[in-house]
Amino acid sequence: MPSQPELKGISAAPGLAQGGAFWVEAAAIVNSVDSLKAKIDLPEALALASSQLVELMDRVEGEDADILEFQLAMLEDETLNDPVRKAFEAGTTLIEAWQQALNKHVTDYEQSEDEYFQARASDLRDIRDRVLRILRGETEVEIPEGAILLATDLTPSRFLGLNWNKGGGVVLQGGSPSSHVAMLARSRGVPMLVGIENLSLGAFPDQTRLLLDADRGVLQVDPSAEQIQDFEHKLRIATEEAEQIALISDQPAQTANGTAVQVLINVALPEELAKFNSVHCDGIGLMRSEFLFHHGLPSEESQYRSYRKLLEWAGGKPVTIRTLDAGGDKPLPGLEQPTESNPFLGLRGLRLSLRQPEVFRTQLRALCRAAVHGNLKVMVPMVTVPDELHSAQELLGGVCAELATEGTEFCKPVLGMMIEVPAAALAPELFTDAAFFSIGSNDLVQYLTASARDLHHVADLADPGHPAVLRVIKELAEHCDRSGQELSLCGDMGSDPNFIAQLLGAGLRNLSVAPARLGKTKWTIRETNLEGV
Ligand code: PEP
Ligand code: MG
Repeated sequence: MPSQPELKGISAAPGLAQGGAFWVEAAAIVNSVDSLKAKIDLPEALALASSQLVELMDRVEGEDADILEFQLAMLEDETLNDPVRKAFEAGTTLIEAWQQALNKHVTDYEQSEDEYFQARASDLRDIRDRVLRILRGETEVEIPEGAILLATDLTPSRFLGLNWNKGGGVVLQGGSPSSHVAMLARSRGVPMLVGIENLSLGAFPDQTRLLLDADRGVLQVDPSAEQIQDFEHKLRIATEEAEQIALISDQPAQTANGTAVQVLINVALPEELAKFNSVHCDGIGLMRSEFLFHHGLPSEESQYRSYRKLLEWAGGKPVTIRTLDAGGDKPLPGLEQPTESNPFLGLRGLRLSLRQPEVFRTQLRALCRAAVHGNLKVMVPMVTVPDELHSAQELLGGVCAELATEGTEFCKPVLGMMIEVPAAALAPELFTDAAFFSIGSNDLVQYLTASARDLHHVADLADPGHPAVLRVIKELAEHCDRSGQELSLCGDMGSDPNFIAQLLGAGLRNLSVAPARLGKTKWTIRETNLEGV
């Protein structure tokens, strides 16, 4: 029998997994006892849901715990529960009242233009379903260990409640690589594909054998014996490679012909570093500070504490903190932004910070105060012309003068810039006073190829391997050789084994990558012989 064609999706967490299919939503439907009659009242159901979440929280930490904390807070939120009570008192059944009220909240969140709220929609769906199960008196279905879960979307708490030690993977019809559950999958090394359009609920039975190759973004359903053999061969290679990578994880990176390469890590929040030792990397090459702004504008004090934590963790190794990069695909609550027809080309990054000088100054003050605790470099995003950089420098100077007058302890950090706008990439000589450059290949590629980074239907055009991208990077490296300015790359291209040799060949010697990609990046560097590039 010919095997089924491969289903294509977007890789949200790399890796390989094989296992039996398990349809998450279908299981919930089958397991439903009586869909309309609540078995207990609302306060009891909410209390039970809260205690389940608290129990789950004991098993997780850091950002995972934050997600559950958000859900706990939502369960206690009167704006969520009030409409349910009112509808119930007006005669709607409790289950319907809960479902309708929560569906409305979920839709509001999904339709929000704010990516933060969109991402939180799955948390709300999670709460909705947890309380629904309790109201209906359902028991949670046991998901077999090592299964490949198929669903429209998967909630973070459902993901956290599963044991991933026995392997397995996730395939979602919807979802996005920037969702919470995708972030959790990446941090746990669980392969995940999202955005598989041709996947309808129950398209094949549970336990159908599946091969998930989240490195290539494909799912093979009911594979042939030959496909299984090939896949198992790939798995063996990946396991051997992981063993080798573990052996070199604390060694400095160097190419096969002995050229040293700095490999740093990209982080979002200081908590991410809890399980990670700074001996494994050369510092932090990018801290995306906008993640501190997801619950509204953080105070100077709370920013200072976060930045200080990073610097202390790095113990003298360089830490590059990027100032707020909001706008575009990263709108933030509490930050006024105009409605734009094409936000990627609008007020993003430094453009937005310069329009909100008070927010920017608060951040710069926190950075200057934290700089006392380590080797801090400050980087501004989305610079197009030198005037923008000069304005940032002026603000930084002003903030330092103010701190000095106040007698507050501070240190003035060096100020560099991201290279992600083609105009800056093609004319780096304009930015003589940038202390350093860091290439944001994610944005540089989207702007050079005119293919938005959040649209999966143009994903194949947003190709970092396009000769134009490599040419720009090479010319930049040549410029920096002449000018003596430091150059690094902190976009995802730097951890893609397909491009590392070319980047090193172009002259780059400093890459900053996601912590989960560090070992593989060092490994690929060791395999690269620059004499042959
Ligand atoms: C980039 O654009 O490559 C980058 C590192 O920044 P971000 O992905 O946060 O836009
Ligand atoms: Mg960018």
